[in-house]
Amino acid sequence: MDPLDVIDRALAHHHHDGTRLMQILRETQEVLGWLAPETITRIAEGVGWPRAKVEATAAFYSFFHLRPRGDYCLLWSDNIVDQMAGSQALMQRLCEALWLEPGRLSEDGLAFVHTTSDIGMGDQGPALLVNYRTMTRMTPERVDAMAELIRNRAPLASWPAEWFRVEDNLRRTGPLLGEAFAPGTALSAAWARGPEAQLAEIAAAGLRGRGGAGFPTARKWQACRDAPLEAGQTRVVVCNADEGEPGTFKDRVLLNSYADLVFEGMTIAAFTIGARRGFVYLRGEYRYLLEALEATLQRRREQGLLGNGILGRDGFDFDIEIHLGAGAYVCGEESALIESLEGKPGRPRLRPPFPVTKGYLGQPTIVNNVETFACVCRIAEKGAAWFAAIGTAQSTGSKLLSVSGDVAHPGVYEYPFGVSVAEVLEAAGVRNCVQGVQVSGPSGTTLTGEELGRRLCFEDVPTAGALMVFDCTRDMFEVARNFAHFFAHESCGFCTPCRVGTQINARLMDKIAAGRGSQYDLQELPRLHRLLAGTAHCGLGHSAGNPIFETLTKFRPAYERRLKSSDFAPAFDLDAELSQARQMTGREDRAAHLVEE
Ligand code: SF4
Repeated sequence: MDPLDVIDRALAHHHHDGTRLMQILRETQEVLGWLAPETITRIAEGVGWPRAKVEATAAFYSFFHLRPRGDYCLLWSDNIVDQMAGSQALMQRLCEALWLEPGRLSEDGLAFVHTTSDIGMGDQGPALLVNYRTMTRMTPERVDAMAELIRNRAPLASWPAEWFRVEDNLRRTGPLLGEAFAPGTALSAAWARGPEAQLAEIAAAGLRGRGGAGFPTARKWQACRDAPLEAGQTRVVVCNADEGEPGTFKDRVLLNSYADLVFEGMTIAAFTIGARRGFVYLRGEYRYLLEALEATLQRRREQGLLGNGILGRDGFDFDIEIHLGAGAYVCGEESALIESLEGKPGRPRLRPPFPVTKGYLGQPTIVNNVETFACVCRIAEKGAAWFAAIGTAQSTGSKLLSVSGDVAHPGVYEYPFGVSVAEVLEAAGVRNCVQGVQVSGPSGTTLTGEELGRRLCFEDVPTAGALMVFDCTRDMFEVARNFAHFFAHESCGFCTPCRVGTQINARLMDKIAAGRGSQYDLQELPRLHRLLAGTAHCGLGHSAGNPIFETLTKFRPAYERRLKSSDFAPAFDLDAELSQARQMTGREDRAAHLVEE
């Protein structure tokens, strides 16, 4: 197809609306393979924005490509759990089979192989994205067969379907997911109550946001409901389905099998705060869910549960659009997410104003997690008293937990808040003694094997819903090093402490890994952690030092055994770096070494 036709079709599909820029770029790239300079120019003209502004958005997101990526772009999930399952060796095997280097397009322009941050498949890795389609459970045999298909330029549609199978692995259900749900029942109950009473019901239920911070949902909604509207404005409901925290995949399961609960929760939120517009911000890694979610939205429109005159009520108008992200973890932060929804680079905004008063296009906006909306739906259906009776005093209801790593049954488990880590791990089948558990991904908490009696709730260990389990054979230093690189990669670069601090963290960890670390470096790491926590602009920077600080505190021998004994050692050992040159020239004499006099 003519590239200009492709671009113009994407522009027309999105009404030449610059706020839909991300979708225009994505749809264009999906057909053309990359975003050439002339493509950017054409899109900029099409939306009436300066070219530099369009290019800035395209350059910000790791899933948009301003250089060719070949016919096959293969991105391996670099989550520590994928690594533990052998992802690095498999990627290397693929590179060797295709005769290419990671991160470089093959000379014939056929394939590009590299890593990407976690893709939300921690329970069925090693996993990768092939042209942004998810592939799970990779093995050496699959890699060899895949290399053959690539060499033969076989279209993805002809690849074995089971390679693309993503399982829910829902191992335990509870009050949220244990019962069938009839679309429309919760919405009807909310309508019967009225918006004020529905808001009071959410407050009485004690619902707190499931994204990790645990902010009371009713308070956020009240602030948005109270925010004045300017002429032509509406309030906006946003479902944060950016689930980018490594080790977390429970929202993926909700969206795949319980989308009605989520969409109906959003519609109840719209009814409660008086919103007419809704978005699901779906992470780019979950591209494979897009068509099914669109179909569910369409069915709900046909059922009178979305669109104009919902439930046959005049004036009850609300609809939901899906906005696909493009591989930027920082977009999980609500103001960065809103920037992205507006077609811009996803950099966190300065606050105030807060999104509840000035969010999407300056309109009052609530941003809630996928699971929060599912809870809203059940509260509307079954009442606040039912919900408040589950869990603990400060953490009502249940929690979905993504369990991965060294367990026999990785997957999603629903438990009432207050459950102990040990109980969850017992259900998941711990294979060996537990050395450590990372709760809530890299930005969360590291527990030792002695702390498994601790409870998952806001009173003890808060969690956004991930448990990554490391048995006694694992190296907790390498776990922290993986996390340090994750943050260095995902920092948006807006503020200096985070942009520089996360890089220094990663380099110090590499230095220690290379056996060149010293006690001085171990003192430097907590200093950096305090600096980041105190000066960074958003939550990413605040928590970037967490995993290093926690593992250094709780697993110090994993660091100590790598150290040189001196107080300070330089990061670069020139003599060691010259060893390859000595080998090639056959020299081992004294003059070929850098020896201190
Ligand atoms: S803390 Fe990091 S991610 Fe957050 S705004 Fe600053 S540079 Fe960006």
